[in-house]
Amino acid sequence: MGKWSKRVVFLFLCLSICLQIPSVSSSTSPILGNQGNEESSAARTFMQDEDAHVVHCSRERSRAAWKVIQEYLMPFVEREQHKISSGCRLHPDNDLYRDQEQHKHRVDINEWRCGYCRKNFYEEKYLDKHFDNRHFDLLNASHSRCLADLCGALHCDLVMDSSPRKTKCNPSAATRNKHLCESLADSCFPVSNGPVSGRLHEFFLRQFCDAHTCSGGPKPFAKGKKKRRSILYIILSILTLMLLPLFYFFIYMYQRGIKRGSQELKRISVSGRKKKSF
Ligand SMILES: [Zn+2]
Repeated sequence: MGKWSKRVVFLFLCLSICLQIPSVSSSTSPILGNQGNEESSAARTFMQDEDAHVVHCSRERSRAAWKVIQEYLMPFVEREQHKISSGCRLHPDNDLYRDQEQHKHRVDINEWRCGYCRKNFYEEKYLDKHFDNRHFDLLNASHSRCLADLCGALHCDLVMDSSPRKTKCNPSAATRNKHLCESLADSCFPVSNGPVSGRLHEFFLRQFCDAHTCSGGPKPFAKGKKKRRSILYIILSILTLMLLPLFYFFIYMYQRGIKRGSQELKRISVSGRKKKSF
């Protein structure tokens, strides 16, 4: 009996240690926690996801929609010095995930940091899961603020790496997307709001809406994308332009020096031969 009671006590001890391990790892400070902990917490996040608040808005597709807006629309809107109203669904305030995305910091290639609690993660997807689980309270899903819902109109698939490209065109989907696209143009850039808004309305139709057809119409983003030139880019360009002539000048001088050096060598060797012949 003594033997059995010892075994029972041993088993009980093992069980209690096993049960304590997760509580210890979850109580570690987020700042001090190492990456191994982050990974395990991310895995835990993944498991708890079903209990977490379910938001019916794809984060990945919202991100793609944001990318399309930033690359293919905003540079043109800014060039016209136009401000999108908050009533427009393309306005940053109408992106459910904007605040969380702004609190996402890429520290290194394999290091992502949560801007709310400074916890680190190996991959962006684990940070996304962390947001879903730990910071879901910051999401205000009360209004129709899901950018992913606009993906059909904005051609998100073209900027997403993972999405499979559809080869067959669905006419009813194309019509639906065109309708959504045109309603976006009408609500965000009303023609009645003046010439600038009218121009942007026209631009929006050409850039996004015309391609929603199965009859081989124009391609999406017909007007292309404009890169925003930062001050650093401009300074670097000016510096390069200034340094290029200098660079060629040095090469020219260097080659001239070599030529002169070889001519002098020839002269010396010729005079040496002459001396020898004497
Ligand atoms: Zn956090």
